[in-house]
Amino acid sequence: MIASASFFAQRGWLLGTCGNLSIKLADHPVRLLSTPSGKDKSRLQEEDFLLVDGQGQVVGDPSRQASAELGVHQGIYARTSAGAVYHVHSIFNNLASHRWRSQGRVRFAGIEMIKGLAGKTLDDVVHLPIVDNSDNMDQLAANVAAGISPEVDAVLVYQHGVYSWGRNPDEARRHVEILEFLLEYVVRLESLPTGC
Ligand SMILES: [Zn+2]
Repeated sequence: MIASASFFAQRGWLLGTCGNLSIKLADHPVRLLSTPSGKDKSRLQEEDFLLVDGQGQVVGDPSRQASAELGVHQGIYARTSAGAVYHVHSIFNNLASHRWRSQGRVRFAGIEMIKGLAGKTLDDVVHLPIVDNSDNMDQLAANVAAGISPEVDAVLVYQHGVYSWGRNPDEARRHVEILEFLLEYVVRLESLPTGC
C-alpha cells in the first residue's frame, strides 16, 4: 500500500492528502488496514496505517480516527469479493464523470488496456457506473453500493473520484492504473477535433 500510494501520488491522483486505500486482513472478525486521513499519501510510513474493525473503529487505539470515507470501503467489501479497495481523485476521472453523467456510465470499447481489467478481453465492452457525490458519508456509501455492477470492479463518483477494487492489493492497483488510462483516453479522444 505504501508503494501504491506513493505511485498514485506521483501521478497526481492523491493530491491535497485526498484519496484512501484499504486492504482486508480478515473476515471474522472484520479487520481492515487503512491509510490515515489528512496525511500526504506520497510519504506514508508503516505506523501511519490504521487497523479498523467492521464498525469503523480503530482497533487498539481509540485516540485515532479512521477516514470518514472508510464506510464506502466497508460497503464495497460487504457486497463484493474485494480484498483491497483503492480510491483516487484525478483530473481525468472527474472530467469523465462530468462528461458522461447524463448517461450514468462511461463506456470503454475496443481499447487494448481493457484486457487489464479482471476477466476482460478486447471484445468486451465495459461500462463504468457513475453515481452522485455526497458530503454525507452514509449517503455516499449508499450511492457507491447502489452503483456496484458485475461488469467492472469500480464505481465512479460524480466530480469526486473513482473507487476501484480487486481480489488482492496487486489487482486493485492494476485496476486503478487501467481505469485511469481508459478515462484519460476517452476524455482526450472527445477533445480531438472532428475528423481525427
Ligand atoms: Zn474521495
